[in-house]
Parts: sequence; structure tokens; C-alpha cells
Amino acid sequence: MTAMDDSEKALVERLHVVRDRIAHAARSAGRDPQEARLVAVSKLQPARAIAALATAGQCDFGESYVQEACAKQAELSHLALRWHCIGHVQTNKAKNAAGRFQYIHSLDSLKLAQALRRHIPISRRQQALIQVNVGDESQKTGVRAEELPVLAEHIARMPEFELAGLMCLPPFFDNGARARPYFALLRELCERLRIRLGLALPELSMGMSGDFAEAVAEGATLVRIGTDVFGPRPSRRP
Ligand SMILES: *Cc1c(COP(=O)(O)O)cnc(C)c1O
Repeated sequence: MTAMDDSEKALVERLHVVRDRIAHAARSAGRDPQEARLVAVSKLQPARAIAALATAGQCDFGESYVQEACAKQAELSHLALRWHCIGHVQTNKAKNAAGRFQYIHSLDSLKLAQALRRHIPISRRQQALIQVNVGDESQKTGVRAEELPVLAEHIARMPEFELAGLMCLPPFFDNGARARPYFALLRELCERLRIRLGLALPELSMGMSGDFAEAVAEGATLVRIGTDVFGPRPSRRP
């Protein structure tokens, strides 16, 4: 292994700062810090940066684009990492997404579930979270809250999936505190769904760089943070 250069050391430094902030938010809310897991969002970041964080003990990485994720998984296959698919999956990309991620956070339609299940290896169940459009925003993907129970019932009946919980991407605010009611809504939707389906649904995937303290206070178990860990993202090539 090669020695870390200065930019990699700075990266690891930022990782520790973010971890401390998550732990602080959890303790302030009376939660066990271990229950809020950091998913480092590595979309558009190079494999080298992921490897540097892995040596510092970060195992969970979130990717938004299936093709990009597959290339990094191949490049980093020597590392024991857990990959999270957090971006919208088009039905025609389902084949490449199925079975390649520990969790798919962005399951948002019956059509996608049906496309994915055809490609999930029989030997393993795909852990999945349903993405809910908590702000009812037309430009965002995710199932609407009213449609969640029916979709969840369908997915819970498919043996290829293990329904693990819910995910949301609330409306964007400059002040993260304003996102908090949306995180509370996702938690309540999940509580109702647990009763309705009789499932554990342990995971709530919520919180990003600008609002993760509020998400952790409302019960986030998977916190998806990109910018605060890696610094600004390179822009996506068209
Ligand atoms: C990019 C992205 C994140 C991380 O966003 P930051 O603001 O960089 O922390 C989290 N969740 C999803 C779904 C994303 O697409």
C-alpha cells in the first residue's frame, strides 16, 4: 500500500469531524451513536479517495449512478466495502443494480421492484428501502406518502426483497432545521408501516451534509453525507 498524501490525510480528518458531529447529534437526542451509521456518498469522487477512507475504517459508501458504482466496485474489489445505491434507478438499469449493493435506498415503484427482482440472485435477498417523496415535490422521485402502504405491501410479499425501511430526500432549505418536520414525517410513516406489515423495518435513511443533525435527532440510522466528507463534488460530465 502506498503512503497517504496530504489531500488523503485531509480527507480522513474530515471523516473524523463528520463522525464526531453525528455522534454528538445522536447523544444530544438521547440515542446510541452506534445506531446512526455514516454512508459516505462517493458519487463523482475517485476510487482513490474511497480507498483512503476505507483504511480509516469507513466501510459504507453511497453511489447515485449505477454504471459509475459498478466501475468503482470492480476497481476496489479487494476491499471489504458495503455499497449503497442511493440514486434513482431507471428500469432499464435494474439488471446492473440488482444484487450489487448491500442496500438499495431508492426503490420507488412497483415497476422498478419487478424489474429488479428478475435479476436478484436466488441465493440472496436484496435489502431495500422505499424512497418517499415527503415534500410532494414534482421534480423529485419517490413514492407519495399516500401510495406508500400499498407499494410496501407488494414489496414485502416479494421473496427477493428484504424490506429494510424508508428513505427520503426532503425539500432543500438553506437552514437544515426547516427539514426536520419532513424527517419526523418519514419516521412516523415508518412507525405506521411497521404495525401494518408486522415487519421490523429498522432503517431510516435520511440526512445529508446540510441537515444531518436534524435527521439524526429524528431517528436516522443511515446518514448519507457527501460534501462534508469529501469536499465539493466534481461536476458530472454530460
Ligand atoms: C448526493 C446525495 C447525497 C449527499 O449530499 P451532500 O449534500 O453532498 O452531503 C445524499 N443523498 C442523496 C440521495 C444524494 O444524491
